[in-house]
Amino acid sequence: MRIAIVGCGQLSRMMALAGIPLGLKFSFIHDDKTQTRDCVQGLGIIEYTPSKEADTNSYAKQAIADLYQALGEPDCISVEKEQVDVTLLQALAGFCPIYPGVDAIKACQHRGAEKQLLTRLNIPTSPYVYNETAIKAVEVLGYPVMAKSCTEGYDGKNQWVIKNADDAIKFDALRLTDYIIEGFIEFDKEISLVSTRGQSGEIAHYSLTDNYHEKGILIHSISPAVNISDDLQAQAMRYMESLLNELDYVGTLAIEFFVVGERLMVNELAPRVHNSGHWTQLGGITCQFENHVRAIAGLPLGSTEQISITGMFNLIGTEKPPFEVLTANSKLHWYNKVSKAKRKLGHINLIAPTLPLLEQQIAQLNLTCKANH
Ligand code: AMP
Repeated sequence: MRIAIVGCGQLSRMMALAGIPLGLKFSFIHDDKTQTRDCVQGLGIIEYTPSKEADTNSYAKQAIADLYQALGEPDCISVEKEQVDVTLLQALAGFCPIYPGVDAIKACQHRGAEKQLLTRLNIPTSPYVYNETAIKAVEVLGYPVMAKSCTEGYDGKNQWVIKNADDAIKFDALRLTDYIIEGFIEFDKEISLVSTRGQSGEIAHYSLTDNYHEKGILIHSISPAVNISDDLQAQAMRYMESLLNELDYVGTLAIEFFVVGERLMVNELAPRVHNSGHWTQLGGITCQFENHVRAIAGLPLGSTEQISITGMFNLIGTEKPPFEVLTANSKLHWYNKVSKAKRKLGHINLIAPTLPLLEQQIAQLNLTCKANH
């Protein structure tokens, strides 16, 4: 069986590395010329997206048929990111199933569409307005607010915190289009839930994970999340199941939540494997990458049971693999990307017998590896 994935980044790499032991073959669609192919080099066929026809701005049927063939006629196609060209997926859907489905990917591509989906399912999220000026938005939401581009933002990019009238005037002067302005949430902490739904509708949840960000970028995660009541746990799983079933989702989905007292509010959805689920490579019986691959390949899901308290530390801007920080209970995942400040270049998963010991080791990694954040 062959699986094709749109994107040539680290998530594609880790899906392939998890699926190859199952005897699965991989192909990758290189859809972003600004990205190198280094992460997936040697893991399968790599093909460029064809150019669109100038007059219709769509793909020629023959070009898509040629792409499908060059990819080795995959049995299904998946994605490693939400910002993919939907028309490419729709064209490829004529040849094999796309998992998760195009509608699910579309719903998570646009912050406005995502908010509408959450609202329709009665899943709490921060209050927002779409394409209103900041001056108008604060009349409804009050200061501070957070403006976010609907399609271009990730890792804190294309986001603006608006604290006062000066900020609001500056934001409005940018004359952006297609953005939301959200109420600023004074959350207690940020957690995520990563779950996988199989083709038969079975759902497997990983433990909730605590996530620590700096300037919008995930720095480290610890799972299981601490001080989570049974009620919060149940809320998270209920929201996840509601989304997975509504979208008839196949594969792994991540939900980022704000914890506000005894309530959860969804910050963001990711229709794919997620950075906050990387710890499952060491702490889970089956990692998120293998479960995603199992789901889309139509195989039974593996156990999401956790075998140890686990931490994940992102290597951001690190110049070369930091072998010197490895210990007996940690594992390095290096993505083979060209080093650049603020770029995620790898991560370290680590386990420890107790939470204080794990936190101590993460603090140490912070001291040693953080220079380039
Ligand atoms: P995002 O790209 O939406 O995940 O945002 C990046 C980070 O910005 C989040 O992980 C939060 O730390 C912070 N953030 C995003 N939205 C809000 C909000 N409405 N209120 C407060 N903080 C936010």
